[in-house]
Amino acid sequence: MQNTSSTQRPPSHLFYQSRLRRPLVDRAEGIYLWDQEGRRMIDGSSGAMVVNIGHGNRNVLDAMKRQMDRVTFAYRLHFENEPAEDLARMAAERLPEGMDRIFFVSGGSEAVESCIKLARQWALAVGQSERWKVISRFPSYHGGTLGALGVTGYAALSDPFSPMMREMPKIPAPTAYLDRDNLTMEQRGIKYADMLEEKILAEGPESVLAFIMEPIGGASTGALVAPDSYFPRIREICDRYGILLIHDEVMSGVGRTGKFLGGDHWNCKPDLIALSKGFASGYCPLGAMAAPSRLVKPVLDAGGFQHGFTYAGNPLACAAGVAVLNEIDRLGLIDNAARMGEVLKGELERLSERFPFIGDVRGKGLLLAAEFVSDRETMKPLPKELNAHQRMVDMAYERGLIIYSRRTRGGVEGDHFLVCPPMIVTNEEIGSITSILGDTLEALAAELDL
Ligand code: PLP
Repeated sequence: MQNTSSTQRPPSHLFYQSRLRRPLVDRAEGIYLWDQEGRRMIDGSSGAMVVNIGHGNRNVLDAMKRQMDRVTFAYRLHFENEPAEDLARMAAERLPEGMDRIFFVSGGSEAVESCIKLARQWALAVGQSERWKVISRFPSYHGGTLGALGVTGYAALSDPFSPMMREMPKIPAPTAYLDRDNLTMEQRGIKYADMLEEKILAEGPESVLAFIMEPIGGASTGALVAPDSYFPRIREICDRYGILLIHDEVMSGVGRTGKFLGGDHWNCKPDLIALSKGFASGYCPLGAMAAPSRLVKPVLDAGGFQHGFTYAGNPLACAAGVAVLNEIDRLGLIDNAARMGEVLKGELERLSERFPFIGDVRGKGLLLAAEFVSDRETMKPLPKELNAHQRMVDMAYERGLIIYSRRTRGGVEGDHFLVCPPMIVTNEEIGSITSILGDTLEALAAELDL
């Protein structure tokens, strides 16, 4: 085994201006990763909320090996392949009724681009060529490619490219928990949904093609959950103006929130769905757009979907996807995510009782976050200079726990950290995670004088 310390390593392949060189990873199993010096870390964020079924799953690895022995690449214009057909059928069975057409890609940004481009080509095919605007929310993250970045609400990521891309209209994410008004949560849900209608009217309803949102927020909002009233109202508004509703389930999908899709908690019926991350659980790069035939057929009849990627429907990636879905079923991982999510959320709430600078604990299943504040009553954020979210991540890392963090929320910035272990996590492992979180928060409070 090569054992090179991080200080000896040349920086040539690293684009990141890393504050902290991370060690070389050696191996991984279950919820754990080991570096080349033999140190074990708990993967408390499933990578970037990717490794839903945990590391080193033997059945998935064996299925991939079997596929590797047969064929790893056959171009889609030359051959269909069985894993892609199986995976499309299995995905459609798990998606809302009518989502029967699956278009494979290799990641989340590609899945979002595909939704946007199918929506546009559908509008052209049905004679609505004036529709092209895709409204999204701020803050949000939908990917790094220029089209996905246009709907991403994260200025630091999109500003450098503003002359080169089309910035799409944004409405605020439904940060109802921050509001200090006399409305109930359900009234706030309606208030935030109605902002979509206001934006549609301001933009000109005939020019609006789609609205894209994460049903349960990811890293950009810290597992933001809108009030129940938000979802039916959004659907109603989209229907009223003939606008397609795109659900970005790249992070919230494939069981992470305790249902197959985040939107399933509200029985949502979007028009297009973007999937990735947990779809092949990090065993291979894989993503997908799911669409109903009623949108796909006019596009095909008008000459075909003018879009595609070389690796779309790759047999090895799809074989990994099939095996991942089988393992999710065999091990009952969606139910486990729901159950363990409740346990972990309860632990985070207990930590918030101990540490008054935790102002909010939120999320569903194992997509959970805690937000730091300097005052719980007003939800005033901590000063930016403290860099509390990054210190939290680094101090947890020193203690053997990987978590994820950001400093974004509504109109005002705020620090949050996400705890999203693989869906195989056990009660005992949640105990270890919360014990490290407790130590880390104590050290953070001492260091930042919170
Ligand atoms: N959409 C959401 C909600 C995401 O969280 C991400 C990535 O974090 C993406 C899209 C982009 O996915 P990828 O990085 O695989 O391109």
